[in-house]
Amino acid sequence: MNRHRTTCAVLAALLIGAAASGCADGTDEGDAGRHGPAAGQSAAAAPPQAGPAGIEARTARLKQELAARTAVAKKWGLAKVPLVAPAPPVEKPHITTRKGFEVEGGEELPPVFTTVPTKERIVFLTMDDGAEKDPELLRMMSELKLPYSAFLSDYEVSDDYGYFKDMQARGVTLNNHTLNHRYLPGLSEEEQRREICGSQDKIEKHLGKRPVLFRPPYGNYNGDTLRIAKSCGIKAVPLWAAEAFPDHMEWREWDRDLHPGDIVLTHFRGREDWDGSMADMIRNVMKTITDKGYAVARLEDYV
Ligand SMILES: [Zn+2]
Repeated sequence: MNRHRTTCAVLAALLIGAAASGCADGTDEGDAGRHGPAAGQSAAAAPPQAGPAGIEARTARLKQELAARTAVAKKWGLAKVPLVAPAPPVEKPHITTRKGFEVEGGEELPPVFTTVPTKERIVFLTMDDGAEKDPELLRMMSELKLPYSAFLSDYEVSDDYGYFKDMQARGVTLNNHTLNHRYLPGLSEEEQRREICGSQDKIEKHLGKRPVLFRPPYGNYNGDTLRIAKSCGIKAVPLWAAEAFPDHMEWREWDRDLHPGDIVLTHFRGREDWDGSMADMIRNVMKTITDKGYAVARLEDYV
């Protein structure tokens, strides 16, 4: 038992997140069941062994994994090795619309929120529009095993759905951000339907899956928006608590900080739009996230 505790201290020092928290109840057995591989992260190949030999084997494996993650972080120029998110919850949290974001009669409509209710020190990365199709981003995120979700606007992506098919094959969920990125509250019900449900149809046609998440352009919507979105298959409307750029962050909250479950927005942009590449933006946002002690989790595991 003592030996187990000592080893757990070593594990905790090595890896924050799934591996370390597996020691909390002092048993090895619980570990395999509760902490399967986090989405986008590699599964531990060997079945758990009992006793000191098993603990040592696991320590060796974790050391190896940490060395690999350190090497990848260094390769991509990250200031620190990203923290590992805990395994997703067995049951998704119940999400309600953020106070002040309600529409009249909206009780049965998809919830609009900027933060997912959780106590874990995790945040979610989301990327919008789709103008910049940088192959380096796909490689970088895959190698770093960082989950993110995309919200696509057809007019930005229709010239190259192949890029997003590749992204999807790497485990990224592609969601609805309308056909033409219009200011929805200024449109008639029929125009909104075309923008929102038209995007559902296009994404399903080109990428084989009908989205369940929708983000209105600029975060602007009205009751029609949510009713129409629901009518064509949308279950939730995640907005964002912070926005990432290559050289700074913008914050929704007065404390200018991250909070457990915060959704972070960024965009598929390149040097034409901002001062840096997609990789520069990821380096910047990951420095903020890791410095503040957060890991990146997959939005679809919680919503
Ligand atoms: Zn947008």
